Amino acid sequence: MESNEKEVVSKNFIEQIIEKDLAEGAYDTVCTRFPPEPNGYLHIGHAKSILLNYGLAKKYNGKFNMRFDDTNPTKEKTEFVESIIKDIEWLGADWEDRLFFASDYFQEMYEGAVKLIKKGKAFVCDLTPEQIREYRGTLTEPGKNSPYRDRSIEENLELFENMKNGAYKDGEKVLRAKIDMSSPNINMRDPIIYRVAHIPHHNTGDKWCIYPMYDFAHPIEDAVEGVTHSICTLEFEDHRPLYDWVVRELEYKKPPKQIEFAKLYLTNVVTGKRYIKKLVEEKIVDGWDDPRLVSIAALRRRGFTPESIKMFVELCGVSKSNASADYAMLEYCIREDLKLKKPRMMAVLDPIKLIIDNYPEGKVEYLDVMNNMENEGLGYRKVPFCRELYMEREDFMEVPPKKYFRLFPGNEVRLMHAYFVKCESFVKDETGKITEVHCTYDPETKCGSGFSGRKVKGTIHWVPAAFAANVEVRLYENIVDEEKGVYNEEDGSLNLNPNSLTVLRNCFVESSLEGAKPYDSFQFVRQGYFCVDNKDTTKDHLVFNRIVSLKSSYKI
Ligand code: ATP
Ligand code: MG
Repeated sequence: MESNEKEVVSKNFIEQIIEKDLAEGAYDTVCTRFPPEPNGYLHIGHAKSILLNYGLAKKYNGKFNMRFDDTNPTKEKTEFVESIIKDIEWLGADWEDRLFFASDYFQEMYEGAVKLIKKGKAFVCDLTPEQIREYRGTLTEPGKNSPYRDRSIEENLELFENMKNGAYKDGEKVLRAKIDMSSPNINMRDPIIYRVAHIPHHNTGDKWCIYPMYDFAHPIEDAVEGVTHSICTLEFEDHRPLYDWVVRELEYKKPPKQIEFAKLYLTNVVTGKRYIKKLVEEKIVDGWDDPRLVSIAALRRRGFTPESIKMFVELCGVSKSNASADYAMLEYCIREDLKLKKPRMMAVLDPIKLIIDNYPEGKVEYLDVMNNMENEGLGYRKVPFCRELYMEREDFMEVPPKKYFRLFPGNEVRLMHAYFVKCESFVKDETGKITEVHCTYDPETKCGSGFSGRKVKGTIHWVPAAFAANVEVRLYENIVDEEKGVYNEEDGSLNLNPNSLTVLRNCFVESSLEGAKPYDSFQFVRQGYFCVDNKDTTKDHLVFNRIVSLKSSYKI
């Protein structure tokens, strides 16, 4: 009883609508869809829409349609169709055999338009685009009827036929719904439903020179496919009366229902296609999949997982009011996802040599190291230990400040998984840069030996010099300057962060990472989670992207 009540409370408003519809018999099954326009790459906001629609179909044992809304031939490209398919597959939303193209319904849409004309609900209008705008009125003033509004049904049928047959130039004539020029909702003031455009279409070629407008096409697409709940974002709320008008006038039996939810925004993150396109074109980023962006391709390249994105989208929830999520929340999700799944390896990003003077030259020990201290299931690996190691530059200080527990002359630390070492001396080059740290080790202190003598306060990681792989590591920060905000108020340009990419070309990782493949990811202890870059990694040059650092002040 109690658990049932809890379940009711946790349902989002869309689930509540769907359950009511099912209970009342408005629909006996659920069918949702994701309808991208193939005019760009998908981003994290689209992921929300995809996972929401797919999740609802799964939850109610219904169907999920993947539909390209390709009714506007001016902006669409096949390249985007391919990238969108790849991204949705990767997210795990399975449309099975339900992949559709809105352009396949051009005939139905055309017939729908003819039906409206025959019902006296649509007319061909000769006003110019400027005149149509003038006649439309404003938010405070009603519009005026077009002088062509009262054409006879016969004349309209003939003119529309001529439009279809290419008798007119682009913009010369349009087909408009006949609704109400004095409606307080401007979308209902005899909206244009068909226009002339002599542009070939990527799917239908030269077959059509008239194309339906979005507000007319979309409800038909939904109705033809048997979609029940057509979920879209809030900016379409004012279009809903027109959506309902179209499916009503075309007399669909179980018409789909439009439901709006708030878009997902990320604070201080660029998602606008227009801006991303500019960053790509000006070569400020390395393509649409640059790991600093939040396109799905970029998130995948950076090392985010479908599970982490799903968790993020669920945490954001579904609501009716616009709000903005924190990027730190996305980072939280990927940390949570990788924490127990990935081995914890040692990697030195800014190396200096650590030489153990009393360790025999040529000797190698193989230490048993647990891959993930919190998940024994990931097993163990052997890490070679020898006289010369690499350590992190920041783990040594010639003159340490208070509370510095890492290496400095005379101090002893634990080498992770290995022995205690004590710093005896160091070497600097002519510029004053430290090049070597010399230590002695205590053979009694081997990790796991049960040594219970003295304690040390610091543990540092290392990589055995003779068994290290030399790799490139890329660290990322937000591409926009968070202090200034995303957009420059004066000219609308982006405020860029000049330090958003740091490339480290001389890093060392355990040699067991040599066989890593693109998209493989790991924790590098103390440094964060890293993923093998899929674009710039070659057989003998590994490139790692830092997905996220280990720590954050962010709390859920
Ligand atoms: P455009 O400006 O080109 O229309 P778009 O981002 O709206 O861009 P669409 O291809 O029309 O692109 O979007 C497909 C679907 O994704 C739509 O149903 C849309 O409502 C949804 N969507 C787009 N952006 C977001 C977002 N930020 N959050 C949630 N859903 C989104
Ligand atoms: Mg859109």
